[in-house]
Amino acid sequence: MVRIGHGYDAHRLVEGRRLVLCGVEVPHSCGLIGHSDADVAAHAVADALLGALALGDIGQHFPPDDPAYEGADSLELLRQVFGLVGARGYELGNADVTIVAESPKLAPHIGRMRANLAIALSCGVDRISVKATTEERMGFTGSREGICAHAVVLLTKRAD
Ligand code: MG
Repeated sequence: MVRIGHGYDAHRLVEGRRLVLCGVEVPHSCGLIGHSDADVAAHAVADALLGALALGDIGQHFPPDDPAYEGADSLELLRQVFGLVGARGYELGNADVTIVAESPKLAPHIGRMRANLAIALSCGVDRISVKATTEERMGFTGSREGICAHAVVLLTKRAD
């Protein structure tokens, strides 16, 4: 029994915020704004997990107007979402994440991003792919107005 899920998220870039992607604080002149730490990649993965099991979306589980999640560590939210997955008898087959950002260059940080996701999702790092791309200066990522992320996950039912 396998289930597939897709997640997508986008956040606006502003000055005076940290840039956190897959739990890695990436040095940059600006960061993403949001109620939590605005980790757009962790949010996309969480939505993919929820989507795979038709459990709604991250906004339903962690309402953006709930003060409990102000400045929240999105990797912790991701761990909580993965707890729902485990409770239903599923484990991660693999995850593939694409972060779309005109800048900064993310290549030096990909290894730590993969490691963070592997820990949150209780799997080997070989099951986690994180890729980065640009949109060639087109659109809201190209103008550096924001960063978005896509994620696809495959869940497999544990043999009991
Ligand atoms: Mg988000």
